[in-house]
Amino acid sequence: PAQTDRGGRRVRLGVMGGTFDPIHHGHLVAASEVASKFDLDEVVFVPTGEPWQKSKRRVSTPEHRYLMTVIATASNPRFTVSRVDIDRPGPTYTIDTLRDLHELRPEADLFFITGADAMAQIVSWKDVDELWSLAHFVGVTRPGHELHDLGRKDVSLLEVPAMAISSTDCRARVAAAEPVWYLVPDGVVQYIAKYGLYRGHGRHDGAPD
Ligand code: ATP
Ligand code: MG
Repeated sequence: PAQTDRGGRRVRLGVMGGTFDPIHHGHLVAASEVASKFDLDEVVFVPTGEPWQKSKRRVSTPEHRYLMTVIATASNPRFTVSRVDIDRPGPTYTIDTLRDLHELRPEADLFFITGADAMAQIVSWKDVDELWSLAHFVGVTRPGHELHDLGRKDVSLLEVPAMAISSTDCRARVAAAEPVWYLVPDGVVQYIAKYGLYRGHGRHDGAPD
């Protein structure tokens, strides 16, 4: 893909990392809002490999999570999906995601998008000091979580429409034969049914990260 537009301006690339098990409208609204407010040219969704923070619960295969992410983003010309995390062996660390994307898209400025809950954990991430040099961070509001100002100029906070949706709740709904229509895109509802995802999930599997 082009690294600069016709005016020679650097490409502004949003990065939306997540387990996406399954991807839902909370993720999509967050990405769309940040893209609009930060004038992003593209948002790349990056499904995690082995999510190290979620090793307590069963996680769908990377291929299922990748394909659901592709289905959910296919209709938006500015949304793309990257395999960097699922193709890298071992647990996923955001620092590796950003390093890889930097190498693949050297002329792009990266904007890492994260919900309030993930933002709160940011300081516990691997190589946190280098993170700030690789991307501008955009923390978005999420119902039920407080968005903390880290007091850094390389971190922005953005209020986005409140979507009280979580993958955990979507999995629990499927397990209980309750609907997920309108919480996730139609194609994702159908994909979950087609492959029988989340059906046998118990209480333990439903736990969030
Ligand atoms: P789980 O319940 O399995 O943890 P999740 O709904 O939190 O799933 P993740 O894949 O863990 O989804 O989240 C990926 C990113 O999207 C994180 O930065 C998270 O904070 C953000 N995010 C998830 N849901 C929302 C939402 N409803 N509003 C805003 N941000 C969200
Ligand atoms: Mg989560």
